[in-house]
Amino acid sequence: MTQTATGKVTAPTDHATRANDLAAENQALRARMAYLLEQAERNHSIMTRHQAFDLNIVGAANFPELVGTIFRVLPVISELDSVTLTLVDEGADIREVMLKLDVVFADFPGLIFVEELDGLGFELGQRGPGAPPPKPLLGMYDATRHARQFPDAPAGLQSVALVPLLRNKRVIGGLNLGSRDPTRFTPSLGTDFVEHMASIIAICLENVISNEMLKYIGLTDSLTGVYNRRYIDRRLLEEIARARRQAYPISFMYIDIDHFKRVNDTVGHGGGDDVLREVATRIKDELRASDAVARFGGEEFVVLLIDANLESAAFVAERIRASVAGTMIALSPELQLSVTVSIGVACLEPGHTDGDPVAVARAWVAQADTLLYAAKDAGRNRVVSVAPPPAVPSS
Ligand code: GH3
Ligand code: MG
Ligand code: MG
Repeated sequence: MTQTATGKVTAPTDHATRANDLAAENQALRARMAYLLEQAERNHSIMTRHQAFDLNIVGAANFPELVGTIFRVLPVISELDSVTLTLVDEGADIREVMLKLDVVFADFPGLIFVEELDGLGFELGQRGPGAPPPKPLLGMYDATRHARQFPDAPAGLQSVALVPLLRNKRVIGGLNLGSRDPTRFTPSLGTDFVEHMASIIAICLENVISNEMLKYIGLTDSLTGVYNRRYIDRRLLEEIARARRQAYPISFMYIDIDHFKRVNDTVGHGGGDDVLREVATRIKDELRASDAVARFGGEEFVVLLIDANLESAAFVAERIRASVAGTMIALSPELQLSVTVSIGVACLEPGHTDGDPVAVARAWVAQADTLLYAAKDAGRNRVVSVAPPPAVPSS
């Protein structure tokens, strides 16, 4: 209590109370400001990270780079405990092409392929043209229900978001996000952000997949499915450079089907094409994954064997010859054909890879071609290989 000059007594002054109230209000406001500022900074930081992520994935040069970035970066910037990606791949076309382009799927355990839309886990509702695309599904994680989307779910996974990947209203897959925080994905949460993220990922995926398909088509012989000449010409130069660096031998086979004109004359061009496909398969079956077979043109195939000296290459060539000649090729239950091949084998030993790689490749292929003709001259259905000349000592 205080007494004024006039002797009037007042309760703890209104002044002081008001000052206290103001201070408290001020403090609350400051705290609120600090909170908002923190939120704004956090949102800004999330946005910046996501913008960086978007740029990163838009710039991905190929399929492994894209999915690798998604799996590596997204869990960090979005603070997620699990991120997986499901792709619809009817007929396994995508997988076949990626395998051919040497994509190692074991590197991406979060990459899941499904044959049909049902495997994505969405409520698909109506289907067909004009039907609305599915919406993201947010909710509690259920080990049984979400087994396909989270095959290696981390312990303690609580809430998940299954977000459709859409291209022109077509579902191409699903982006599956998981968190140990049960409140992270609840059905009442807005989905604009995840939908936006999924739309960018979907565009990038479609882009790299069609690019990879084009790459594949450009490097593949459409009749037999083995590589084409363009591919092997480029690969030869790469392998010559690598063999030079790592000092191992590489070998080259020139394979030509014997009397193929007669095959065409006997069974027609279509039957001839079937023979080409079967010969390609028999060649492939004798090779290691690191070797490459290509159709060079007409009824000629070539094989590039990595880290193989002349002896082992000639051994593989003999296996190919025996495999083609050993069993008749069945064009139909009634029509079987006996086919043989002649093969020239040339080896590039360490020490013979010096000089301009283009010139080295040309001389090497020419040598195998000459040896092939020697095999033809010697009666066909045979392998001819010779040891390379001794290395020129470098002065
Ligand atoms: P040789 O034992 O001397 O190699 O005899 P060949 O009859 O195999 O020789 P040649 O190289 O002259 O004939 C190749 C034939 O392959 C001629 C051509 O009509 C045929 N051919 C080329 N490309 C194709 C193709 O894509 N499909 C089919 N069916 N035949 C093809
Ligand atoms: Mg020929
Ligand atoms: Mg021929």
